[in-house]
Amino acid sequence: MNAASLPPTALWHRTLAVTRHALETGALQPIATEARTLPIANTAFQVRVLGRVALKERKRPAPSQAEPFNPFANPEPDLVLGDVPPAHVCLLNKFNVVEHHLLLVTRAFEPQDALLTRADFDALSTCLEGLDGLAFYNAGETAGASQRHKHLQLVPPLGPDGYRAPVEALLPTLPGPGRVIAAESLPFAHLLAGLGPWGAPGQGERMLAAYRLLREAMGLGEHAPYNLLVTRDWMLLVPRSRAEHLGVNVNALGFAGSLLVRTPEQFDAVAALGPLELLRQVAGVTP
Ligand code: AMP
Repeated sequence: MNAASLPPTALWHRTLAVTRHALETGALQPIATEARTLPIANTAFQVRVLGRVALKERKRPAPSQAEPFNPFANPEPDLVLGDVPPAHVCLLNKFNVVEHHLLLVTRAFEPQDALLTRADFDALSTCLEGLDGLAFYNAGETAGASQRHKHLQLVPPLGPDGYRAPVEALLPTLPGPGRVIAAESLPFAHLLAGLGPWGAPGQGERMLAAYRLLREAMGLGEHAPYNLLVTRDWMLLVPRSRAEHLGVNVNALGFAGSLLVRTPEQFDAVAALGPLELLRQVAGVTP
């Protein structure tokens, strides 16, 4: 692949230009949903309900192949924003629910349940420099990953009120570098790290240190499934025990306060149970 390198200053402009073109060519196929909210404490969680057409399309069985198709081995050129040094390519999520949903995939194959590396965090901090949004990682199928080729993800701030994600409104004062805490407001297994001031050199290295600290404090095994949420300021790790509850699949965005359900009935079930209880059911256990 010979995509041009993508500097942080060009990321948002490229996102808009590539999105416009990919919609014209049909390479980008957004999934329509109805956006609803559920109040939680001082914020509102977002629940997107798939439309009928989207539901039909999602149910379509994948063509049977000996080797499952890897969409990230050779990303569709119309979706590609550019290379992100040292080892990644940034592209649009082809089937996006949220607008301007970016993927950061490794150029060479690495498995999704492999540990995140310095290269992953260097690429991620480059992208977060260009877009002060919410990055996330679904480590393994139980954590919501649908592709085996390593991919980090980044979306613009989800809100409300300028928050990177609804869960951000529930977070306590962030711990300083070298410390992790659990937030009393989050009733599911998790640990939170603060990343210190944004913009100093060595951002990727500091993110890698926080990630290692969170994993160690959580006692996560090398291939254990987990979700990771990352902003410029904080990193949240959630161990996973189950992929779904009540038929609702949960990935990292769920723990950010943004759920996706297939039907209005599923929405009602989540509302009756309470979204935080749904998250507690699919998170792992704190050691
Ligand atoms: P996840 O499901 O969390 O593992 O994230 C993988 C994402 O890749 C999904 O959200 C899909 O919408 C997206 N995807 C699937 N096929 C392609 C493709 N050919 N190009 C770009 N993105 C894709």
